[in-house]
Amino acid sequence: MDHLRFRSSSDKFVVRNIFCIGKNYLDHIKEFDTPAGAAEVPKTPVVFLKPTSAIMADRVMVSIPVYNGKPISNDLQNEVELVVVIGKGGFDITADRAMEHVLGYAVGIDFTLRDIQSEAKAKGLPWEIAKGFRSSSPVSEIVRKEEIGDPENLGIRLKVNGVTKQDGNTSQMIFRINYIIHYLSSIFGLSEGDIIFTGTPAGITKLNPGDTIEAEIDSIGKLNIKIG
Ligand code: MG
Repeated sequence: MDHLRFRSSSDKFVVRNIFCIGKNYLDHIKEFDTPAGAAEVPKTPVVFLKPTSAIMADRVMVSIPVYNGKPISNDLQNEVELVVVIGKGGFDITADRAMEHVLGYAVGIDFTLRDIQSEAKAKGLPWEIAKGFRSSSPVSEIVRKEEIGDPENLGIRLKVNGVTKQDGNTSQMIFRINYIIHYLSSIFGLSEGDIIFTGTPAGITKLNPGDTIEAEIDSIGKLNIKIG
């Protein structure tokens, strides 16, 4: 069972489900534009899940998995994301009551094996391996919601080897936190222990072994990760 820690207490938070929202920042969607046309803006949230083995609260190294003696990918990419931590579960939660279900927030990175994801998308196959591999989702300490101001107006950044690659604001999210909670609770139901990755701004980039990653969201905190 994987757990997260809190910034201001020694409590532990046991993670149950890891929901992820894709394509939630317009500038990131445009990174997938091709000569054939613009990538589509979704009408409802794009949702996928990760196993709890994706979480790494106390470790700092992320590596491409090796299978049969070979790395399974050669295109590991970064996606810094605001993580919403659910403290109270429910079904069919209305958008106007949704924020009552939030316990706090954290900084997360949705590491992605882009070549595997692109190939799966092209074949119309699921892309769990591209997103849910072991240690694909480091998450910072949780900050309780009372300790921060508006979660939808926070600077969100990621640096690779000290160079800023992602620099956005959570106000740019297409689907708002309360709508995402409403939507997920209507389809899946939400439980205490669930966490939600809410999508990434532009600036995805190919990472290499030895790279150092610093992810940061104002008022919430920082994550320092090394690529192995
Ligand atoms: Mg993502």
